[in-house]
Amino acid sequence: MPVYKNIKEFLEFINISNEKFTLYEWKPESSFRRFDLDLNIIKENPISNIFFHRDKGNMKLVYIRKHNLIYTVGASPAVQYQLLEALLEHIDLKFNETFNVETILSYGDFSPGLFDNEFNEILENIIRNFADLGLVKRIQVECKVCGTVLPLFVKKSFIENAESYPVPIVYSHKGHAVLCFVDRDFHHRGVELVNITG
Ligand SMILES: [Zn+2]
Repeated sequence: MPVYKNIKEFLEFINISNEKFTLYEWKPESSFRRFDLDLNIIKENPISNIFFHRDKGNMKLVYIRKHNLIYTVGASPAVQYQLLEALLEHIDLKFNETFNVETILSYGDFSPGLFDNEFNEILENIIRNFADLGLVKRIQVECKVCGTVLPLFVKKSFIENAESYPVPIVYSHKGHAVLCFVDRDFHHRGVELVNITG
């Protein structure tokens, strides 16, 4: 089964924090791993409204600071970054739809687990039905290096909110990268091999 249809099985954790503490965290039932160190490093980044990626080898991290909260997801390297970004965007939407976070926190009597009861079910639904939420599109691109056609996932929001078309996206895989141009109908308009540094 493709990864995006079964994304739950590939997730290590989902965390929603503010500067001081974790408001909500999801982990697979059998997991006792803690991610405090990663979350502390992430909190040091003050930049808002931009997705950041970290490749830890055995785990990918994607995070964003938004609405005075920091959303983080950790997943298997098999999951493309765009899928994880789409997931966090949807979680942000649902979390703020469900709770008036600022008001709740202004009561000053926050206790760990306050959001768990209500949000657990919502989150389980999101990760179980992720492929049916219509958040991502799959585009087939040819990689001349691999000599195969690869599935490239893009967030719909990324294409729909673009300022001009076609939109460039770099697909980094297996130690090299291709640059793809995607038009507003989610068709790709060319693929080039690009050099990478960093
Ligand atoms: Zn390739």
